[in-house]
Amino acid sequence: MITDTIKKFVSRLFSPAIRGPQRIARDKHGIDRRNVSRHAIKVCEVLRQHGYQGYIVGGAVRDLIVGLEPKDFDVATDATPEQIRPLFRRARIIGRRFQLVHVVFGQEIIETSTFRAPATQEQETDEHGRILRDNVFGNQEQDAIRRDFTMNALYYDPHTEEVIDYHQGVADLKKRQVRMIGDPATRYREDPVRMLRAVRFAAKLNGTIDPATRQPIETMASLIDNVPASRLFDEMLKLLTCGHAMDCLRQLREDGLHHGLLPLLDVVLEQPGGERFVELALERTDSRVRAGKSISPSFLFAALLWQQVELRWKQLRAEGEHNVPALAKAADSVLDEQTEKLAIQRRFSSDMREIWFMQPRFERRMGKTIYRMIEQPRFRASCDFLQLRAAAGEFDSVLAQWWMDLANGDDATRADMIEALAHLPRDPAEASVPRKRRRRPRRPAVPRDAE
Ligand code: ATP
Ligand code: MG
Repeated sequence: MITDTIKKFVSRLFSPAIRGPQRIARDKHGIDRRNVSRHAIKVCEVLRQHGYQGYIVGGAVRDLIVGLEPKDFDVATDATPEQIRPLFRRARIIGRRFQLVHVVFGQEIIETSTFRAPATQEQETDEHGRILRDNVFGNQEQDAIRRDFTMNALYYDPHTEEVIDYHQGVADLKKRQVRMIGDPATRYREDPVRMLRAVRFAAKLNGTIDPATRQPIETMASLIDNVPASRLFDEMLKLLTCGHAMDCLRQLREDGLHHGLLPLLDVVLEQPGGERFVELALERTDSRVRAGKSISPSFLFAALLWQQVELRWKQLRAEGEHNVPALAKAADSVLDEQTEKLAIQRRFSSDMREIWFMQPRFERRMGKTIYRMIEQPRFRASCDFLQLRAAAGEFDSVLAQWWMDLANGDDATRADMIEALAHLPRDPAEASVPRKRRRRPRRPAVPRDAE
């Protein structure tokens, strides 16, 4: 048993060096050239014409093999950024620590990077072993070793239509198994974000994480704390918008990884009653992503943090604060906490505030106020948010539908709807809100000579 494992390990360790990579022909990997970005093919062709290698690499090759539509196309080459740039009309070198070239074709950017060598002893790391710089150029074989999972280390050559595979990535992909290249614990230490990536790819492919790749995650999850907040935010956004967010979260939870791995998830998944709302928000996001529609990160984060805002809002009201200032305070305290950990950028957090602050205003329908609400830039998103609350049973669904119809209507329809309000019998959902203007309490008469 043990000798088998050792044999397997040794053969994996040396197989590329001894046998070279596998070259997998078109009929075996099944990538249809017509599904490959013509701009990415163009970049590879130009590189080739100038005597360099050029391959499509990473997520695009993985997605094409399993029949998913790639989000974007990356190219890897042996040319350095300075050699790449002059070959294209619109190309710029980006990044300082990790230089690569953006080759621009209208709306599409082909990220073109030079083969890199894997981590070395001299590489600069933090005290936990996280790699801080990664700019040592190498050859294709070295480049494959420093990639994270075997399925992400495949090189598609558009010229020969072959896939070059150093780590049995195609076989793993066919099994839908996420397997780390090299020693998983070491690779997580180098970059803890890889733990989140493992979960995301397994969910996206409806597959599994190879046991050895999965095993260290539980004990190493806390290393995520050392990742800069902005990087964690990007990775988490990818996880939440990969079209399988629900599966990812379920998986994280089953593995006990939601503690510590993502600070936001502790908040989101641990509160009683909050689950339904979060589930609805994520299901809605997943189905939008799968239908190819855009999603707004502010909306998503507003939804994920809403239960917490609501809870504090309630508490503050119970302590005697007025409705609106209580909501503002609750929003501020939740955002302060989360932005620190997650680097939710200011533009997102101000949109989130607007969505939240609109919610109490939906409780009453009064002509003049409605017109002011419609003019708010986040009115539409706020109405969408209200639908979620209605679906979760925390807002009257008929009233929520009225607002949605209003948001969808043209000016004339809106005017009619608002006009019709005056003739409606009082709506039970709005019963707590008096329709008539409240009279100001009369000031007690003060005797003149008392002033
Ligand atoms: P997707 O874009 O669908 O989220 P992807 O695999 O393309 O998935 P990217 O973040 O775009 O992910 O990275 C492109 C490639 O770069 C990956 O396929 C992988 O080969 C390599 N890579 C990305 N992040 C890491 C990492 N943290 N460690 C090692 N290699 C990585
Ligand atoms: Mg990608």
